[in-house]
Amino acid sequence: MLEVENLSVRYGMIQAVHDISFQVNQGEIVTLVGANGAGKTTILRTISGLVRAYSGHIFFEQQEINKKAPQKIVAKGLSQVPEGRHVFHGLTVFENLEMGAFLQKGKQQKEALDQVFSKFPVLKERRNQDAATLSGGEQQMLAMGRALMSKPKLLLLDEPSMGLAPIFIKEIFSTIEEIKKQGTTVLLIEQNAQMALSIADRGYVLESGKIVLQGTGKELADSDEVKKAYLGG
Ligand code: ATP
Repeated sequence: MLEVENLSVRYGMIQAVHDISFQVNQGEIVTLVGANGAGKTTILRTISGLVRAYSGHIFFEQQEINKKAPQKIVAKGLSQVPEGRHVFHGLTVFENLEMGAFLQKGKQQKEALDQVFSKFPVLKERRNQDAATLSGGEQQMLAMGRALMSKPKLLLLDEPSMGLAPIFIKEIFSTIEEIKKQGTTVLLIEQNAQMALSIADRGYVLESGKIVLQGTGKELADSDEVKKAYLGG
């Protein structure tokens, strides 16, 4: 579904991503794990069209997308939940969700909204509240709900567990598994390698902008190298 080939990304003189290749197949949860600064966010933003590749190719359903505008990429069925959520304060929960549905027409929008409300009942309860009044976990749900409003085929999630209490982290990860079961493919970026690998079909470990290990979620979680570097021994 998504193929990244020999991707390199630079910020001026800094090379953040070095010649990486990986793929995401339909129906999978694939995770990219790695420490702070390993290049995870850069890769996601390049796929979404927010950052330009220096070299390499990105294909989504066999079509090259790396020179396309972000809104064209969303229209193809690829939607990103950004790191730090970025929900719109000063707008209600409902208005935030509407912002995610700019490509949907009336009836489709209503259907998407019903699906989001059934997945996240708390958003329905709070639909008329300012998004700023939600807790961190609820804001993460809202950011995910907003991305799901465009009915993506592939959902890109950047650090959904960041800054959340353990109980919310559990809830968010079980929601990601549910999203997969309902037919959306997921590319998940996490510093919380343990949680990410526990739900991932496959994963890649990044270090300084390079892929240093790959395997199934279980293989990586069991690997001594990963345990030492990311799972506290
Ligand atoms: P984090 O978990 O902190 O988001 P990450 O693995 O997502 O880390 P990136 O944010 O992609 O890593 O950063 C990769 C490298 O690129 C780092 O060295 C970072 O300092 C650098 N970098 C990221 N954004 C920019 C930018 N806008 N301008 C210059 N350098 C940047």
